[in-house]
Amino acid sequence: MSSGSRFPASVHADRLRRAAVETGSRDLLALLVTPSSDYAYLLGYLPPAMERLTCLIVPAEGTPALVLPRLEEPLARHELGELADQIDILAWDETDDPFAAVRRRVSPDGGPMRAAVQDQMFARFVLRLGAALDPVQLVEAGPAMAALRRRKTAEEVSRLRAAAAAADQAMIAITGERLSGRSEEEVSRRIRELLLDAGHDTADFAIVASGPNSASPHHHPGERVIEAGDAVVLDIGGRRDGYASDTTRTAVVGEPAAEFAALYAVLREAQVAACDAVAPGVAARDIDRTARRIIDEAGYGDCFIHRTGHGIGMETHEEPYLVESNAEPLQAGDAFSIEPGIYVSGRWGARIEDILVCTQDGGERLNTTGRDLYVVS
Ligand code: ZN
Ligand code: ZN
Ligand code: ZN
Repeated sequence: MSSGSRFPASVHADRLRRAAVETGSRDLLALLVTPSSDYAYLLGYLPPAMERLTCLIVPAEGTPALVLPRLEEPLARHELGELADQIDILAWDETDDPFAAVRRRVSPDGGPMRAAVQDQMFARFVLRLGAALDPVQLVEAGPAMAALRRRKTAEEVSRLRAAAAAADQAMIAITGERLSGRSEEEVSRRIRELLLDAGHDTADFAIVASGPNSASPHHHPGERVIEAGDAVVLDIGGRRDGYASDTTRTAVVGEPAAEFAALYAVLREAQVAACDAVAPGVAARDIDRTARRIIDEAGYGDCFIHRTGHGIGMETHEEPYLVESNAEPLQAGDAFSIEPGIYVSGRWGARIEDILVCTQDGGERLNTTGRDLYVVS
């Protein structure tokens, strides 16, 4: 996603301003953001995450600063373009102490005594920043970043839509191929190729879970050879222009057993009902409850062993999560998966997953492939 996640400089300048507002309203001294999707969201490029400290500092007031190793200054200036004029770039030399540079920039000065660190920051950076900033307390930046990133703009939705269309194209292609006689691993490799052919910049995952393995939601594709009668769960995704795709369809090799067809009909009804329930103001947990109630009532309650969905954007899993513990209302601009599954241990399983965007008029499905069971050869 090096340059793929970039928008015009004005968009990133606006994101930095909104980040500063979050910093102030959460009574923080600053947000400290190391290379990650949060960093790419704010600055539009992603430097390597490594042992040398690169850290964006967003204070509540004043100019943001970027502490980085001298050798990465040319990359930063090149990638930031006009945005570089709005950031103090503080390059450190190989023998300097970059943590002292951060301390000079975020000294408390009678203000708040808390600074927020990016969720995936390396532990050694967190520990060293903690020591350098003492007695300032370090807290999680996750809630502030989620508040910025959760509601997608129209431009972000169009990137998610393009990523979903590319994943759909790969799904249509793979379910048109013969699967029996091929190993899960081989089909998984083929899907990665198809994801790239369809326009993804990276193919991030291609779960192929066949026969009894289809009862394991996060199965790692292995040497098992797909055979007649197998259920095959295909959960695939990648990234395009910085935004993620994620879709699941279930196939069966040849005519499905009546019992499996019945299970699938329940799952399909649950997934469609959950999609139809999406609207601004509806609690995230109610989408989960809608799918779960239908699966429960059909007697498969114990076989639905995960939440109904997760938010998606620059990361495959982000806020909001569609789970019983999340009572927050959905908002227009939220993008998330709806992916109930039914898994009968040792036998078979099925899952259907679409990405939706919550709009004023309800849920818009970004994946548009058919949701019936795919009968393949
Ligand atoms: Zn999953
Ligand atoms: Zn998935
Ligand atoms: Zn998913």
